Amino acid sequence: MSSRDAVRLSCESPLTALKGIGPVRAERMESAGFHNVGELLHLLPIRYEDRRRVSRLEDVREEGQYTLTGWLEDLRPLRISRRRLTLVRGRLVSGEQSLRVVWFNRPYLSSQVESKVEYVLHGAVRRRADRWELVNPSVEPVERARLAGRVVPIYPSAGLTPAELRRFISSAIDGLDSEQTAEPIPFGLRERHGLPCLGPALEYLHRPPPEADVDALNAHSTAQHRRLAYGEMLCLQLQLALRRRRVLQSRKTHRYDLGPELQDMLESRLPFTLTDAQRRSLDEILRDLDAPYPMMRLLQGDVGCGKTAVAALALAAAAESGLQGALMAPTEILAEQHYDGVRRLLGERYPIVLLTSSAASRSESRRRLESGKVSLAIGTHALIQEQVRFSRLGLVVIDEQHRFGVEQRRRLQLKGDHPDLLVMTATPIPRSLTLTVYGDLSLSVIDELPPGRSAVATRVVPREQREEIYVWLEKELATGASAYIVLPFIDESPAVDAESISGFGRELQIRFERYRPLILHGRASSDERAATMTAFSSGDAKVLLATTLIEVGVDVPDASIMIIESAERFGLAQLHQLRGRVGRGQKRSDCVAIHGELAAEGRQRLDVFAGSSDGFRIAEADLEIRGPGDVLGTLQAGLPAFRVADLVRDRALIEKARVDAREMVESDEAQARRLAFALGATTAGSDFLAGA
Ligand code: ADP
Ligand code: MG
Repeated sequence: MSSRDAVRLSCESPLTALKGIGPVRAERMESAGFHNVGELLHLLPIRYEDRRRVSRLEDVREEGQYTLTGWLEDLRPLRISRRRLTLVRGRLVSGEQSLRVVWFNRPYLSSQVESKVEYVLHGAVRRRADRWELVNPSVEPVERARLAGRVVPIYPSAGLTPAELRRFISSAIDGLDSEQTAEPIPFGLRERHGLPCLGPALEYLHRPPPEADVDALNAHSTAQHRRLAYGEMLCLQLQLALRRRRVLQSRKTHRYDLGPELQDMLESRLPFTLTDAQRRSLDEILRDLDAPYPMMRLLQGDVGCGKTAVAALALAAAAESGLQGALMAPTEILAEQHYDGVRRLLGERYPIVLLTSSAASRSESRRRLESGKVSLAIGTHALIQEQVRFSRLGLVVIDEQHRFGVEQRRRLQLKGDHPDLLVMTATPIPRSLTLTVYGDLSLSVIDELPPGRSAVATRVVPREQREEIYVWLEKELATGASAYIVLPFIDESPAVDAESISGFGRELQIRFERYRPLILHGRASSDERAATMTAFSSGDAKVLLATTLIEVGVDVPDASIMIIESAERFGLAQLHQLRGRVGRGQKRSDCVAIHGELAAEGRQRLDVFAGSSDGFRIAEADLEIRGPGDVLGTLQAGLPAFRVADLVRDRALIEKARVDAREMVESDEAQARRLAFALGATTAGSDFLAGA
């Protein structure tokens, strides 16, 4: 036991307060993300080994983890140079019994182990070639064994070796008087959720008591785990709630004329009737526009559910009120399509300009925008350039929000005086992620598709059987169908087992020559791309060979076939997006995912894809299969790097933290601010909002 009298630590203590950590090490740990004792203690074990029971060699009867004691004999290093691996083999002997032991990459063992010393080993026993073998166990002399008889935490490597981490964390726990450790979360909240205090929770997790439930520890589901996860999420939710409150307290200077006739008038311009979900969302938006504070709303819904149509009506409401509206999209194709689409939906009633990096007459457009002659501007990043000025920007709509950074969204907002903000996402994301990444926004969900859409029949087919698919495609094309064929790469690469436009795509181009196949990828100029899209949507060309450039938003209602080559290369959200390009018209639609060799995860992904067409369900499954990091890798707006909380495992807690945070911000804003700050001192999430 180390002595407790030397240091008195708190979570805010610098790392150098720990024995063995000098300035050099502290710097190394800072670069690994640890700035104080509290942050270090929030690095929890990835798993726990149960070494409470020491077994005898004769007890080894099945595979599993064992703690065993005995003497080590016949240790021999073996070098397997081809695989750059060293092996040490030997035997663990106790009485009459002996067990084979093998270590990987620990060549020093054979010279360190002494024959007269009894050791305690812990590791996995496996059955190999009719014999039991202990694989890569830890080794400690029995006399000095600190770990035997305990539940042993195993740490991830975080700029330090696991042994170093164990040592420093252990001395931090020694120095921290857990009963006296400050607990920032109020008693009422901890009691409501049955959560222990911070100090004891940390001690428990780093030094589990002998009676601890190892399964619960390994599942990260103990009350102590939940206390830490909740703290992180509450910290983030408080910041989001505070930010939201700040906006709701600000006053916008523009007003809308939203008489009761307006909605009827708006809807009467549409060539179709809104679905119930669209109307509900539009109502929510119009109510926000009518409020004295700026709108901050996220409009979510599956591909093709009609988000753009709703956004167009909101823009029309701005234009009707003598205000300007801006719609920003991440690609030129999409911006152009929105430009055509909005004009089609709203007619010629409102002057609209298109602003992209290649749109002609840009300076003319800018002039008309600045003078107020134009009501609506639709474009790409070009919209946020310095020279673009509005005369009375009231409403900002951002399509495919996740493709833009927080900074870009803000730059567009700053072109007006507290304009209303509507953001849209390309694909649904799971609620737990929505509450985390967009937690400061109000949420409107369109959860139904316009009538008359037939479900897209989806097939998943191995590459060996694709000839049948192309024979079928030939027949479909002959009867007038239009098809997309998506390939993951532009160029062929011998190193990658995946199809490309210049490789297999070329074969397809020749094979379907009669249907005038066109090629669409990011390397073509935007003029070429626009010409390609026009030819495909008008039906001049019946086959479009493309990269995932068409993933986002492209809308050609007559296209009814989507073939995805090397489908294992794509994430679930991407596959779903691609499938959403068809099934937009009256025609029955088909999607075929053709795959090469599949790993287990790929199989799982394609099964989910074939089994469901509900974007929200697919998003949840994606989150479970890949984990939040990967799913959100595409969310440039970013996600706080939680140290403990997990968006899959702890999703129920997120809802609670959000409710608690909003309540506290309502009832006592100063307390909420202090709590967010105190929690931010040791948990993640504090950087996340810095730029927001
Ligand atoms: P999203 O932006 O959600 O992907 P869009 O707004 O682009 O969806 O709509 C997809 C297609 O459905 C468009 O062709 C649009 O004109 C059409 N559409 C939208 N709402 C309706 C509706 N209520 N009834 C019929 N068609 C609709
Ligand atoms: Mg869209």
